[in-house]
Amino acid sequence: MASIYIETFGCQMNEADSRYIADRAVAAGYEIASDATRASVVVLNTCTVRDNAERRAYGRMSHFKALKVADPSLKLVVCGCLAEQDRDRMQKTVPYLDAVFGTSELVRLGDALAQWRPAFGDPTDETSELRALVQPLGGAADCVSDAYSHLRSFVTVQRGCSYYCTFCIVPHVRGRFDHRPMAEILGDARHAIAAGTRELTLVGQTVNAYRDPANGADFPDLLEAVASLEGLDRLTFLTSHPKDFTPKLARTLGTLPSLNPRLHLPVQSGSNPILRRMNRKYTVETYEAKIALFREHCPDWVLTTDLIVAFPGESEVDLEATLALCERMRFAQAFMFVYSPRRGTPAAHWEQISAEVGGERLRRLADVVNAGMRELHQSKVGSVMRALVQGPSRKDPSKLAAKTTENMTVVLPNPGLDEAALIVRPWLDVRIEGAHVWGLTGTLRGIAERFDAVAESVAAPSLDLIAAN
Ligand code: SF4
Repeated sequence: MASIYIETFGCQMNEADSRYIADRAVAAGYEIASDATRASVVVLNTCTVRDNAERRAYGRMSHFKALKVADPSLKLVVCGCLAEQDRDRMQKTVPYLDAVFGTSELVRLGDALAQWRPAFGDPTDETSELRALVQPLGGAADCVSDAYSHLRSFVTVQRGCSYYCTFCIVPHVRGRFDHRPMAEILGDARHAIAAGTRELTLVGQTVNAYRDPANGADFPDLLEAVASLEGLDRLTFLTSHPKDFTPKLARTLGTLPSLNPRLHLPVQSGSNPILRRMNRKYTVETYEAKIALFREHCPDWVLTTDLIVAFPGESEVDLEATLALCERMRFAQAFMFVYSPRRGTPAAHWEQISAEVGGERLRRLADVVNAGMRELHQSKVGSVMRALVQGPSRKDPSKLAAKTTENMTVVLPNPGLDEAALIVRPWLDVRIEGAHVWGLTGTLRGIAERFDAVAESVAAPSLDLIAAN
């Protein structure tokens, strides 16, 4: 049986693209493999947003070379932003690749899969043995194969971005805004709901800049239309830009009960001179005014963000301003990075701050942000939170990992529930007992099929019985 293994690096856009590739592959007759050593086709969906992501992707390509040597019939494919940026270099330096597809060539990749499909028979004993000898490749990124994947779906709202932040490679590799018609987005959302998805995420680089090319409907209109779909459980969206956070959007967020109570609004820096150099199109004051509006309409939501330190030109005063902003905002979560120069972007040509200083600034920022996160998580101890199962915990597969609707990670012992039971009732009511910077720990109290359904209790005596065995 032909099978495909897909490894995804980077953002939700790439996750959505990987789901598209998986759907095309299944339609063409492939099985999804959870292990590259068993696959007929291996796809690496790459990212180039930071230097580290680039190096990891090239590292994975050389790992997969061993598979190609063991079984030359294997097709090794690279797609995504790094493929778009480095196509020529990649084809020269990684000559064993079978194909490279840029960000706008997903349909071609799907067509190639269909074309290759008849050539894959069952593997011979000899190739299976050779593949089995290849060192375990380990998981370097997310793969779309696990049994719980369909519980979460990503629907792409737009491709590209027209904002040209001076640090960002996205407009260069994905192009300018290309918004999808709302009718298509609704069609994909209906399809995902019918396939059993419990949490639907609308994704785009700047989703709240959305405009329906057919009639000019904006992002709040789109949210209302998706939220009204029959059978929808939970809805969320990533990523937004502060510039497009409008009073209408704030009002809409406050009125749609199926929305997850989390707004991710990247601020990047707390210093106006740095925001200007980044070409972010807002000031600290306008960001804070928008957050005040957001909190007025959504008092129980959490706010999460992205932050960059050591951007070219960042002084100690600029960093202090970022730390002060974090103290004021109390972000529930922040993705924090040391600035990483990207070829072809303006900031890559400016005088750089040393890695040493960058590392030290990141530690100072993390101290401030983590203190707020720990405090927030501590406030949840003793409560019961509902979270959507993700599957066995990566660190300890005897435990379950789940995410609350605020995007907090919860890890809990599995009282013996099997995969089938968890997929039917994937919402877990967890009594929170421990708080950490990374998330929460607790004990399972009940499971529910739908977010708003009453949970079926997982009685304490039977938990004790299972534990005793
Ligand atoms: S808004 Fe800026 S950071 Fe975000 S994708 Fe567009 S250019 Fe990149």
